[in-house]
Formats: sequence, structure tokens, C-alpha cells
Amino acid sequence: MGDYAIPTPAIASLPTTSDKPFPVRRIYCVGRNYADHAREMGGDPTRDEPFFFMKPADALLQNDETLPYPPATQDLQPEIELVVAMKSGGCNIPPEKVDEAIFGYAVGLDMTRRDLQARFKEKRQPWEMSKAFDHSAPCSALRPRGTIGSLRKGKIELKVNGQLRQSGDLAEMIWSVPELVSKLSALVEIAAGDLIFTGTPAGVAPVVKGDKLEATIAGLEPLKIAIG
Ligand code: MN
Repeated sequence: MGDYAIPTPAIASLPTTSDKPFPVRRIYCVGRNYADHAREMGGDPTRDEPFFFMKPADALLQNDETLPYPPATQDLQPEIELVVAMKSGGCNIPPEKVDEAIFGYAVGLDMTRRDLQARFKEKRQPWEMSKAFDHSAPCSALRPRGTIGSLRKGKIELKVNGQLRQSGDLAEMIWSVPELVSKLSALVEIAAGDLIFTGTPAGVAPVVKGDKLEATIAGLEPLKIAIG
């Protein structure tokens, strides 16, 4: 490898429930993948092609950590999402080959600076700074697929200070995990270490300093964070 001009940045990773930590390469996210959330965002819950965006790998925040309230927003909103972790990849993966490329699953929060996002949408500018900021990707420990099977359904819920905020079922996804990963792999080459946030059900609303968030998906490690 040789020396670099500066110390090498750390490799982002997530703990797993039954193995060594999982190294994270890229984080992809999908927009509007539950009909009720598409409607609440003023969209049309059709099967128009899914659209993708990214967060940097070092935007991960670990379970039980505090998310420092980010700058440049007064409308920070969490979106609970099923996170899929890839152990292999490729281009143009057929949907029926996706499950065998999945390492496991976690509970994630796609943190969003909603006011910035609204401004960017209005000006037709990139969303990036509303979605890809520091600590914008809290994520629980990964549960290997070998210990739970391929997730197709199950309760997905976000509580804020003990109150139910978002509630849905994985079965309500407009595009299933195999369809999403297949479509993403037609745009970019997917590789081991990639995480994919798969969209959120309805009920998005702001959080403030001091709030305690508890995100759960049936069968997976829960994710608990505080806003600091
Ligand atoms: Mn989202």
C-alpha cells in the first residue's frame, strides 16, 4: 500500500449480531417507496421508476449514539427505513438473484433537513445537502440473512419519546427489495459493503433537541438514538 500524504481515513462499519463488523462502502437510498408516504409528500404513488440518491459511508451513526442537531435546518425529520447490506454485487442483477447477494438487514433512519430539501426541490437543485450531511444515517447492528431469511413483510415503526410516529409494514413497499436492488444495479455496479435504505412509510414530522427515537422492524435489532 505504501504511505499516504495524510493519515488514512477510517473505514466506516456496522456491528453485526453474529459476526465481525461489516465494512461499509457506499450508502444508497431510494425515494418514495411506500404509497402513503409518496402521497404525504405531494407525489403520485405509482410504479414510476424508483429514484435513488446517496449518503457518504461516514454519515453512519451507531445505535445508542446521540445525533448532534445539524446546522442549516430548523426542520430535521427522521425517516425509518429497512436497510439492506450487500455481501456481493454486480451489474444488471436479476431480481431472483438479489437475495443470495444480501448479507443482512438493519433498521436505519434517513435523516433529512426537510426545509433545505423543499428549497432545493423548488429551485430544481440537487437534494444532496438535505440528505447527505454528517450523522445523517443512523443504523442498527446488522442481522445476517442466514439467521432470519429474506425479509418480505413485518411491522416497521418509529416512536419519538414513546409516542408512535410512523407505522407500516414492509409488505407495503411499492418496489420490493429484489426489484429495487436489481434496478439500482442497472445504474451502477453494486459491490460488497454497499447499504441500501429502502424508503419510509407515512408519518414524517420534525424532531427537536432532547427527543429520543426508537426505530423497530420485526425480527431486527432495534435502533435507539437521541437528538442532542
Ligand atoms: Mn428516505
